[in-house]
Amino acid sequence: MRYQKIVILTGAGISAESGIPTFRDKDGLWSKFDLEEVATPEGFARNPDLVHEFYNARRRDLLKVEPNAAHYALARLEREYPGEVLLVTQNVDDLHERAGSKRLLHMHGELLKVRCEACQGVFPETGAISTKTPCPACGAVGKLRPHVVWFGEMPFHLEEIYRALQECDLFLAIGTSGTVYPAAGFVQVARRAGAWCVELNLEPSAVTDLFHEHHFGPASQVVPAYVEKLLAEARKSR
Ligand code: NAD
Repeated sequence: MRYQKIVILTGAGISAESGIPTFRDKDGLWSKFDLEEVATPEGFARNPDLVHEFYNARRRDLLKVEPNAAHYALARLEREYPGEVLLVTQNVDDLHERAGSKRLLHMHGELLKVRCEACQGVFPETGAISTKTPCPACGAVGKLRPHVVWFGEMPFHLEEIYRALQECDLFLAIGTSGTVYPAAGFVQVARRAGAWCVELNLEPSAVTDLFHEHHFGPASQVVPAYVEKLLAEARKSR
């Protein structure tokens, strides 16, 4: 088997064909809301009702969509590949877990969870919350916020992610524009550690030159094809 440890980074592009708009989508939710207002701690402090409205709408939309062939292919890779596979996603949707992925880190948080700023408890939430919703644990009112990482906040699981990047021998970046750090810098870390780096994206990302290999096209096509190739190679070398 050629690779013992695989780290996969996914971004909004992997969920685009499921119907979740990417960051840059012209008609997407993001184009109707100002990022500074809905995805920063300062925006939340200024207008929490607007921020709740934005994330309530995203939660509602998420419940209407399904994983696509790319999500399923990565879950299959984790199940069938004889080496280690770690999935790190920048996405806050739950499409990887719905497709069956288990070893998964949500570095930017999860849309279907909320957090209490008073007691720091994290709770599942599929519906709408507001500034009047009490915390289900401590009862504080007006303290719940989406359990997502906003611009200017520290992503989750970074220590574990960097450790895995240092140890991996294959790094894949899927559907990510390479513009949001620190995730955009992961390729550099993996490459320095000696990993073979592969970009699977609709078009070249901002950090495309750092990858050894590229597969351009829709994730629902390029990801299953690449996974099939990895599994076939692993079968052959057994
Ligand atoms: P991005 O929007 O900056 O980039 C998306 C990338 O995906 C682009 O390079 C684009 O060319 C590519 N892409 C678009 N459609 C594709 C397809 N069908 N197949 C393959 N690639 C495709 O997203 P990002 O790099 O993830 O960074 C933006 C930030 O916003 C991240 O934190 C991200 O998690 C967040 N975000 C998350 C979601 C989600 O949870 N689904 C949606 C939008 C944005």
